[in-house]
Amino acid sequence: MDSHLTIANESNWLRLKQHFRESFSGELVYRRRAYDVARVDQLLEKRRRNAYRYILLLLAVILIPINAHNLYVGEMVPAIGGMLLLGILMANILLLSMNRDAFLSPPLVLLLSISLLLLSIYYGQSYGLYLLYPLLVALPILLKTRWAVLLGVLSGLLAAPLVLTQYDATTAIVIGLSMGLTWLVSAWLVYAMTEQSRRLKDMAITDPLTGVYNRRYLELQATKALDFWRRYQRPASLLLIDIDYFKRVNDKYGHAVGDAAIKALVDVISRRIRSVDTLCRFGGEEFVLLLSETGVGAAELVANKLRNAVENEYILPEGSMTISVGISGVAAANGLDHWLNMADAAMYIAKKKGRNRVEVAEPVRLPLDPLAKTVPDWR
Ligand code: GH3
Ligand code: MG
Ligand code: MG
Repeated sequence: MDSHLTIANESNWLRLKQHFRESFSGELVYRRRAYDVARVDQLLEKRRRNAYRYILLLLAVILIPINAHNLYVGEMVPAIGGMLLLGILMANILLLSMNRDAFLSPPLVLLLSISLLLLSIYYGQSYGLYLLYPLLVALPILLKTRWAVLLGVLSGLLAAPLVLTQYDATTAIVIGLSMGLTWLVSAWLVYAMTEQSRRLKDMAITDPLTGVYNRRYLELQATKALDFWRRYQRPASLLLIDIDYFKRVNDKYGHAVGDAAIKALVDVISRRIRSVDTLCRFGGEEFVLLLSETGVGAAELVANKLRNAVENEYILPEGSMTISVGISGVAAANGLDHWLNMADAAMYIAKKKGRNRVEVAEPVRLPLDPLAKTVPDWR
């Protein structure tokens, strides 16, 4: 027991040291970013589920005193309805806490809650109206905008005659206005947060100069392509594209023209690829094109079409430029690095053979790396 503890502590200590070493070298930062982008959608989904859970909890907490009061004064219809809803809320909170799907979708929960609330007000328990505030906050968080608007307006319209008969006109107007404002503020906050997440995600995966995807996104997509190959034997090919003699372009015309040439190249290429293909700026004047569902034979045709198009396009002030392309197929890849290295090696051969050419990597299979990511069977 004691030695077990020591070993655990020691490995934690080693992990901590590793963490610091990587932090200083900047490696960890890169790894963590790549990890985050891979999970952006998962994180957003988790945030949504958590919001759903907390809102259900809030509704349950508010329902308890209202139910108790309805039972106490003998209003059995809203009381029984309230108990049923409370049971449903608790069951769903439990499911969400266990990371399982709730059996009641947010629109249904909200619709039931609103109906019960109106029932409560109708039977004379008008303080049940306060439940409408958290419901109005919940609408934009949990529903798509048009459903949030529809349910908000619907509950306002249904509650209005009941509120008007129980309060004087001034109070009714104050209640109506404060509810409208509650809904609007919640909707605006949700919109601002969604927009921010979307923008950050976009920024994390695109290259600012050219607007195409960056290396981080490529790594994600290529990893998926590797998974698909391992699981379903779906082919895919990588094209590593490097501009020929680009240093000379910079030297002759300056960096600004160099940048414009890079953008023009992206334009020429992206006009000729399918929407399912992924074009990424891999480094300065190097691009990687990931062709899904494409074997190396077809990829070679695509590469030559692109090479030809670039050669015939007047990208530079006094003429055209050329590209060299290295191709590697997923079938021969032993992992992401190996796949990219094979394309790089092929590109290097294209350069050595005189540039403005396409070379396919020799499909040398390495022994399977036991640490390489494989798709588990249960997926
Ligand atoms: P090679 O045919 O062997 O590829 O020759 P090269 O001159 O193109 O050599 P290399 O691929 O190593 O050249 C990279 C050069 O690209 C270095 C740098 O001057 C230029 N470069 C890289 N990124 C940028 C960029 O964002 N803008 C501009 N203007 N130039 C860049
Ligand atoms: Mg180059
Ligand atoms: Mg280069």
